[in-house]
Amino acid sequence: MIPNSPVPHVVTLVAQSLTSAAVERAKSCLQTQGVPLGEVVWLSQGRALDLHITLRSERADALTQTLWDVLPGIDLAVMAQRNRRKRLMCADMDSTIVVGETIEFMAEVLGVREKVADITERAMRGELDFTQALVERVRMLRDLPVERLAEIAASLQYHRGGRRLVATMKAEAGAHCVLVSGGFDPIAEVVRGHHGFDRQVSNVLGMTGDARLSGTVHLPVVDGDKKLEIFRQSMADLKIPANATLAIGDGANDLPMIQAASLGIAYKAKPLVRQATRFQINHTDLVTGLYYQGYRDAEIAEVDWS
Ligand SMILES: [Mg+2]
Repeated sequence: MIPNSPVPHVVTLVAQSLTSAAVERAKSCLQTQGVPLGEVVWLSQGRALDLHITLRSERADALTQTLWDVLPGIDLAVMAQRNRRKRLMCADMDSTIVVGETIEFMAEVLGVREKVADITERAMRGELDFTQALVERVRMLRDLPVERLAEIAASLQYHRGGRRLVATMKAEAGAHCVLVSGGFDPIAEVVRGHHGFDRQVSNVLGMTGDARLSGTVHLPVVDGDKKLEIFRQSMADLKIPANATLAIGDGANDLPMIQAASLGIAYKAKPLVRQATRFQINHTDLVTGLYYQGYRDAEIAEVDWS
């Protein structure tokens, strides 16, 4: 194949309600850009659509930006048709699979939620050293009774579609799904089980003899570098090539694995993450991660939405 020659791509559009006007706007934008349009395939009637196109790969970034500009409120992805379905997924937990930050729910029990939330926010924006910020917040959790962690885990709310994302990738592509979290073991275990992730990697909290948190976390913590290491190690262990990988997250500490994955998705992410990531989900739910891989509704596992 000649380098830079146009190859089959798809533009996937996803919205709560994908109108024919929006589809026409996308088509006319492609025409204006001189991009040849082929087949049009609904993945989910009225919600998700594939526009088959032919494109030089290096144009995908610019075309994504142009389409974002003309299709506000619509999630979209431009990608090569080859190897769309991924066999490894590494997913962040807090604010990606789980609604909110679990460390804040822990802090709330001790009445220090605001102090902890402020540090979390700054760390996720990439303004603070991740490890230092985590150590500082865990110190504020000292004396939290361990039994409260189970209560917090039982009351979590989940982002819509997480279970379908995991179940479908496992059933249809035999994918290996890993929950990689800067959060903590007892809670991440519950989230892993609920969603059917194959395994989890998360932080380990120090405990005292009377079943309270000691205010310490085992080092080294799961930070951005560690998440990338887990992603790469999973690829190597399972002999999964880079073009068959997906990573998804919202924070600065997810960026290394998002950038290493062939389908690296910023999910309702911080601006710093969005700026660096071509694949994004900003308006719809986690099932969009399946539409980006070309799954149709008939193939999507009918497990609970959350
Ligand atoms: Mg997160």
